[in-house]
Amino acid sequence: MASDFDTVRIPANLAEQGILPSHCSRHGRPAVRRADFTLQSKVRLKGSRTRRVGVFGAVGMAERLDQHARKVRVTQVKGWPLCDVCARTRTRWLTVAAVLFFGGLLVFAGSLVAGILTEAGTVRWLAGVALAGFVVAVLAAFPFSRGSMSRVIGASTAPEGDAVLVENPSAPFRAELRH
Ligand SMILES: [Zn+2]
Repeated sequence: MASDFDTVRIPANLAEQGILPSHCSRHGRPAVRRADFTLQSKVRLKGSRTRRVGVFGAVGMAERLDQHARKVRVTQVKGWPLCDVCARTRTRWLTVAAVLFFGGLLVFAGSLVAGILTEAGTVRWLAGVALAGFVVAVLAAFPFSRGSMSRVIGASTAPEGDAVLVENPSAPFRAELRH
């Protein structure tokens, strides 16, 4: 399969045993800590492009979810090297996600409580605030995804589940793989 990315394959059993370089895959800086995590494969779903609505749409969605569950492969990565930049990037995105999520929920719950305590005239206004809080909490999914291990290190499990694919790995990371 031709690809614009320079992808390096690491056998899944090596990643699961923690036989990995001591430099980070993205920046090539020395690891300040090692991370254990579950790395999923990216799943490309096959399905009709035509939009189905109503009951058929729901059935189609269920089929796709089932397809996804059966096709996704995972690797239990042990001791992946993370440099200071990787660690900071991850912390930053996860912090933003947590602030949005809990902040949104707080606004949502707060406006519901305020709606109960105040008189009818302000309820519509508060409903708008509650909705905004809810939307913000849902939007937390984006920074959360940016802070995911897969995005931070630029790797995923191969569709066959036999390897970890690293996109454009740094030179020091790559050099250590050859040993
Ligand atoms: Zn790094």
